[in-house]
Amino acid sequence: MNVTVIDHPLVQHKLTILRDRETSTAKFRQIAREMSLLMAYEVLRELPMETISIETPLEPMEAPYLAGKKLCFVPILRAGNGILDGMLDLVPSARVGHIGLYRDPHTLIPIEYYLKLPDDISERLVIMVDPMLATGHSACAAVARLKQAGARQIRFVCLLAAPEGVEAMQSEHPDVQIFTASVDRQLDEHSYIRPGLGDAGDRLYGTK
Ligand code: URA
Repeated sequence: MNVTVIDHPLVQHKLTILRDRETSTAKFRQIAREMSLLMAYEVLRELPMETISIETPLEPMEAPYLAGKKLCFVPILRAGNGILDGMLDLVPSARVGHIGLYRDPHTLIPIEYYLKLPDDISERLVIMVDPMLATGHSACAAVARLKQAGARQIRFVCLLAAPEGVEAMQSEHPDVQIFTASVDRQLDEHSYIRPGLGDAGDRLYGTK
């Protein structure tokens, strides 16, 4: 399976706070930011390294340094923005692309309404982010669009996933590794993840 469940105690503790219906908007936003920093840390664990020559105040040395691939974070609007800033706290030099999709109410097909990506996306490791992987329709459509724009290496980070979304991503984009804090039980009839945390966008921005 192309899914990594990040089981670090701090991540799991913060996820429980997010799930709790009593958590306020301000706290939800803050915890989502903290959690996304920790998750990015795990996602980037295997970044390639090289060795460079430096001089410490005492002597020259060969020291490890990040090599090669530069990063591009791509949040899926709008909820993806809620887990972007924590990642940028960790990697301030990363580029950021944005993709906006909405679901046509009649056909249920995801329609793109916004796309802005760095020109050199094909040279970058793309970390696509959205708090919830539910049906997987938007995430799969977003990956297809990023590939069409030239992205060659894509990872997907979400706070929570449903088994249905994981399956959709694995069958449409088996090359995309998914990182999540939990694969929950199932989707309900309204495509909400159960037990879940509710509507991530509404909880981040207090719109309900
Ligand atoms: N999107 C959300 O914000 N929550 C869900 O449970 C499913 C999709």
